[in-house]
Amino acid sequence: MSNIHKPIDWKITASTAELLSIPGKKIVVISHINPDGDALGSSLALTNLFRKIGHQCHVILPNDYPEFLKWLPGIEQVVVLKHNHTKSLEIINAANLIFAVDFNELKRVKDLNEAFECSRAHKVLIDHHPEPGMKVDCLLSDITASSTAELVYHFFTETNLRSFLDKDIAECLFTGIMTDTGCFSYNASGRKTWETVAELLDYGINKDRIYALVYDNYSADRMRLLGFCLNEKMEVYPEFGTGFIALSREDMQKYHFQVGDSEGFVNYPLSIKGVCFSALFIEKEDHVRISFRSKGDFAVNDFSRKYFRGGGHRNASGGESFASLSETISRFKDLLPKYKEKLCKDE
Ligand code: 5GP
Ligand code: MN
Repeated sequence: MSNIHKPIDWKITASTAELLSIPGKKIVVISHINPDGDALGSSLALTNLFRKIGHQCHVILPNDYPEFLKWLPGIEQVVVLKHNHTKSLEIINAANLIFAVDFNELKRVKDLNEAFECSRAHKVLIDHHPEPGMKVDCLLSDITASSTAELVYHFFTETNLRSFLDKDIAECLFTGIMTDTGCFSYNASGRKTWETVAELLDYGINKDRIYALVYDNYSADRMRLLGFCLNEKMEVYPEFGTGFIALSREDMQKYHFQVGDSEGFVNYPLSIKGVCFSALFIEKEDHVRISFRSKGDFAVNDFSRKYFRGGGHRNASGGESFASLSETISRFKDLLPKYKEKLCKDE
């Protein structure tokens, strides 16, 4: 009976609803660094709808979004802090309401952190990560949801704003759900997710077009980089049910790396029989960015929090290391024997 939908236990505060009901408010939506389809889809769905009902609204992101999301309706409204520092801070300082979406701790918004904390705006968090650790006026969190986009749809329903939904907004929400579930292959066992998608389809969205815009939109360089990773960079340790890929800056330069090119790479080792834990290490200028994924019980958010200053979901998390790439990999490999029993359980 686990797929019977339980109603979300939320309290949308009266002040949030009241503020939204008076047109002309200055609203800002912020989301996490390296925004993905859910971060951007959720942010733009909110922005498009808030503008439609007469508010001023901007999305502010710490850094660039990937090329494969540049078609999303309303994307031209996004302000990137990295390129428009002064403008971003001015907009945040003037805001009456700030919506934070798809992250659970302020360090995820990097340099937007301080402006958010100092702002006197009414703050709302809509998120599906465990243990939200931010001070906000209205916390809308549900870790059983497939994505933040699913929760944004629920938010529209609960605030009686759903009648303003249109095809553009439905496209944004569908993109969030589709990308955060790996095209409905994980985090999508609940009936509520499919019901939400069914309702979004009623707005006339073309799911095949959206799929193609997101997944059939790669550069040849990106495909070659993937081939190179699988062929020459993937290491597999069957005795620990683990596989990983590590990319150096030199590797990335060779394939003219663009933001978003490594999206999805971390999932590939999990397709190997017996592998239930995978990692992707990406060498940045002054640190190593890490993604972790798992199948089954192994909690990669705990692992990431404990050893790599990160967090996230049980089966999908991220972290960072300030050691060199090779030292980081050695450290990771040294940890595996400790988890042998957990990683090599027969399915
Ligand atoms: P990704 O590997 O796609 O960057 O991140 C996987 C998941 O972990 C995402 O849901 C992301 O929001 C979360 N995540 C990534 N890095 C961090 C981090 O440093 N801290 C926390 N709390 N969550 C993270
Ligand atoms: Mn998400």
